[in-house]
Amino acid sequence: MDQMKIGKFISACRKEQGLTQAVLAEKLGVSDRAVSKWENGKNMPDVSIIPELCALLKIDLNELFAGERISMENYKETAEKNMLEMRKQEEAANKRLLNAERIMGNIAIIASLIMVTAGLLVAESHPIVTIVLCAAGGLLVIIYAFYGVKIEHDAGYYECPECGERYVPDSYWKVVFAPHVDTTRRMTCPKCGKRAWQKKVLTKK
Ligand SMILES: [Zn+2]
Repeated sequence: MDQMKIGKFISACRKEQGLTQAVLAEKLGVSDRAVSKWENGKNMPDVSIIPELCALLKIDLNELFAGERISMENYKETAEKNMLEMRKQEEAANKRLLNAERIMGNIAIIASLIMVTAGLLVAESHPIVTIVLCAAGGLLVIIYAFYGVKIEHDAGYYECPECGERYVPDSYWKVVFAPHVDTTRRMTCPKCGKRAWQKKVLTKK
């Protein structure tokens, strides 16, 4: 994927549509700087806004990834290549999210252990400090638990071992309350309705 080429193409299409960077940014709910970074080839638009970006620029996904208009003859070949590229990007993004969750979890647990230990050390001389530190330590772990589950819910899909369906659970609560080992959770599959250990996978297919 040639980010420079894609950037120039975005810029050209935007001008064709008579849009300034600011107007395009506003329509997409991103900053002007973000648009400028795409156009300079420094960054790719986030996967989640690509469909809307394509609609505004009156191009399709394959053209965006190719960085040029595609004629009908070589359409299919380019489309397949781009699907693969999209999947790779999605996989990488989800991997980053899940890694961030793990790192955050470790930091939260270590920080709360330090707080609680420090609190207990001063229990005799400063009991109030002990209470505050223990409460803060506990709160930190709770906040992480919710935030971590949110990341886990959002990143990638769960795969049902019974029917092979890959899906995103329809509520956070189902994920919060599901027993888990690492990122594998015991939940009910929305397709076949069987309760089983649903493994986290990074892509839809
Ligand atoms: Zn199933």
